[in-house]
Amino acid sequence: MQQLISRSTGRDLLRCRRCGTEFPEGRATTDGWHYSCPKDGCEATGIGDGLKRLD
Ligand SMILES: [Zn+2]
Repeated sequence: MQQLISRSTGRDLLRCRRCGTEFPEGRATTDGWHYSCPKDGCEATGIGDGLKRLD
């Protein structure tokens, strides 16, 4: 089992406003600038717009 959480590069947790999936920040971005939901078929992008940062 090597999935999800173990590979996060960022410590913050994000939640998708569209599909409700929660994932670490590192899974949602490749360059640390552009964010998008990692779930297949979901097109939510952007912090605050498509994704919500959880504290
Ligand atoms: Zn999503």
